[in-house]
Amino acid sequence: MSNPFENAMSQLDKAAKIMDLDKGVYEVLKQPERVLTVSVPVKMDNGEVKVFTGYRSQYNNTLGPYKGGIRYHWNVSLDEVKALSFWMMVKCATVNIPMGGGKGGIIVNPKEMSEGEIERLSRGYVQKVWRNIGSDKDVPAPDVYTTPQIMSWMRSEYEKLVGHDDPGVITGKPIEDGGSEVRGYSTAQGGVYCVLELANKMSMTPADTKVAIQGFGNAGSFMAKILSEKGYNVVAVSDSRGAIKGSALDIEKLEAFKKETGSVVGFEGTEELTNEEILELDVDILVPAALENVITADNAQQIKAKAVVELANGPTTPEADEILKEKGIVVVPDVLANAGGVTVSYFEWDQNVKGEHWSEEDILERLERIMVDAFNEVWDTKEKYSIDMRTAAFVKAIERVGEGLKKTLI
Ligand code: NAD
Repeated sequence: MSNPFENAMSQLDKAAKIMDLDKGVYEVLKQPERVLTVSVPVKMDNGEVKVFTGYRSQYNNTLGPYKGGIRYHWNVSLDEVKALSFWMMVKCATVNIPMGGGKGGIIVNPKEMSEGEIERLSRGYVQKVWRNIGSDKDVPAPDVYTTPQIMSWMRSEYEKLVGHDDPGVITGKPIEDGGSEVRGYSTAQGGVYCVLELANKMSMTPADTKVAIQGFGNAGSFMAKILSEKGYNVVAVSDSRGAIKGSALDIEKLEAFKKETGSVVGFEGTEELTNEEILELDVDILVPAALENVITADNAQQIKAKAVVELANGPTTPEADEILKEKGIVVVPDVLANAGGVTVSYFEWDQNVKGEHWSEEDILERLERIMVDAFNEVWDTKEKYSIDMRTAAFVKAIERVGEGLKKTLI
């Protein structure tokens, strides 16, 4: 497996060449501004003390406080956290929200821990990083295997240490603890706004557009639901047990079926496929919404969709990107397609620092404006330089950060 930070830097190099990036800006963007490595001792339920390693990478705060999730996973590494913080910088700048890039993680398997142990680990992590976070410095959020409850514990520990309220120190909190409306489906909703813009550009009408979605979890199932409400034909979906294909699936019934049986497989009126086959279906739009690295040099040649909308993070490898580009398949990249999540996180922070609570309607209106503008800017950048949308998003984002950097640092 290639090193994620090296991949991130090769993406920076690619964009820098196209836009003829200022040398000073390039040098600044080659590394994070600050990386914290902490040891977090936790008294386990059996009385033993275990020490966990945690990280927080603060890549760049030119456009606003660092922003990015905290991941609890056994595969967390410093290079992964650094790469993810770089991608957060790019994502926030792509959609033009006033946040920088950050990311954190702890090397741990939370599935092997009790709730109390996870609470002590989460509070212990904050005890080590609290001087470097805060609503005006660095605003973490949930990521893989971290939850709204964990965000609440972290907020409470942080406020104990600083001695005052600061609800905007962390986002992704439960609504009752300062969380935002729409957060639950924000990623999918942002992806839907991208699909609607894409359909305009590519002259697709909902009734004639077939969609396949890999992954029927939080992001994928909401995407299926909203798109089918808008008249799109969601014809195939999958989860970790397998994939199904039919004609215009009834998503509400499918959700009920999945709740009852634990999987989408076996839903009435559908045939079963593998998770590889769903990617190669003859559809108009393919939405990877599960794992990274699923579209690779091995299967990219077989992809038949006209467009790929990346709700998952990193589903397409760089080699596959090249193949899709040659085949004329448009890829709406993760840093744009799934940025609805971080955008509503930013709204949560904004509400918290202003002491407000916005309605669902208000948030949807703001989210739509941000996503539509970002989509069109990336599209125009793609046209301007004759490049793919991923590279265009990087160019646009790095242009924004670079302009800010030149005014301050250089
Ligand atoms: P989730 O855990 O709710 O759902 C993941 C889905 O993928 C599940 O349905 C699972 O069964 C399925 N899955 C697992 N292994 C699979 C396999 N081998 N083949 C097909 N499906 C498989 O996760 P989520 O929050 O929906 O996140 C999905 C992706 O979207 C991730 O890449 C995540 O980083 C990205 N993302 C999510 C958010 C968010 O707000 N939820 C924000 C940004 C990006």
